[in-house]
Amino acid sequence: MAEFDYLVVGAGLFGAVFAREAADAGKRVLVIDQRAHLAGNIYTEDRDGIPVHCYGAHIFHTSDEEVWRYVNRFAAFNRFTNAPLARYQGKLYHLPFNMNTFYALWGTATPQEARAKIEAQRGESAGEPRNLEEQAIALVGRDVYETLIQGYTEKQWGRPCRELPASIIRRLPVRLTWDNNYFNDAYQGVPRGGYTGMVARMLEGIETRLNTAYTPELRSLADRMLYTGSIDGYFGYSLGHLEYRSLRFETERMEVPDYQGNAVINDTNAETPYTRTIEHKHFAYDDPQVMASPCTWVTREYPLAWKEGEEPYYTVNDEKNAELYARYQALAGEDSKVIFGGRLGLYKYLDMDDTIRAALDLAARELGRG
Ligand code: UDP
Repeated sequence: MAEFDYLVVGAGLFGAVFAREAADAGKRVLVIDQRAHLAGNIYTEDRDGIPVHCYGAHIFHTSDEEVWRYVNRFAAFNRFTNAPLARYQGKLYHLPFNMNTFYALWGTATPQEARAKIEAQRGESAGEPRNLEEQAIALVGRDVYETLIQGYTEKQWGRPCRELPASIIRRLPVRLTWDNNYFNDAYQGVPRGGYTGMVARMLEGIETRLNTAYTPELRSLADRMLYTGSIDGYFGYSLGHLEYRSLRFETERMEVPDYQGNAVINDTNAETPYTRTIEHKHFAYDDPQVMASPCTWVTREYPLAWKEGEEPYYTVNDEKNAELYARYQALAGEDSKVIFGGRLGLYKYLDMDDTIRAALDLAARELGRG
């Protein structure tokens, strides 16, 4: 008999939720992670009392009641509401696309005026949009596309908007109201003190080995294995590389109490090499101690192409990659011991709530409680 029922590779959100569920079902679980810390890409680190989002901004939002109740077992959430701004040629605009944005751009003061402007700019575009550019213009017109979408998107994904799937932009709401809340979900917030504590509580009482990269010899430690790293990496890229986007973060301490007055400011012009600047203390906007800090921590996010050795952050869900992923899935199907999970294992643009939902569903199937 193996020492553990489950070996969970990756102590990120997917791995931690699955490990918690398995442990609660009485299974013996071992979690390993190659990094020196828990929590994968939602890891936050304390700097000068400020939780710094080390792998980019993470704002929790969901409309899934069960998922919301679930995270609240492990963390107390504040009521942070994401209301980012976008800078284009020195001018600031509100996001997501709403009356404030349209007013700044066109001076339209009523929903009727804004709608008329968008409709006039839609042109003759008919039928299903075939790519991100067509989708964006159909949603908000050419001015918004050129000012706030094209440069940002092409930097983030490293290819023209005409070659990107329309689905990416459908993440963003378009509203004819003056509401700057980026997300439509019923619940939103950031854990007080950051995400690392939340994941640590999920993993309480579960053996976790950090600085431990997966090697095939570890398989014999457990009867079953959940692998949350990249599926093509797991198979040694034997069928070729799936495509990912990577990011480089430039983080610095600034000797001012408030650098930009908001958590997130995007830079949407093509010339600025970074996509956004995040000021971490604003995620803890209602924590008087954090806000009183005389300094602040700021991160600029530079998109880059992924190559072996870099961290993969985003999957590139076009047809070519979908086809290759399906072939890796077929390979995975031949190995009854391993299950894949998480953004990299499932090759999917999962938000945090989707990740938890997918991990809970897997646990229900796997542990026979669903
Ligand atoms: N987007 C944009 N302009 C912005 C912000 C977002 O065009 O100022 C588009 C862009 O196509 C991007 C998508 O919306 O790829 C999703 O952006 P989001 O900020 O939601 O991505 P994430 O936070 O997941 O990186």
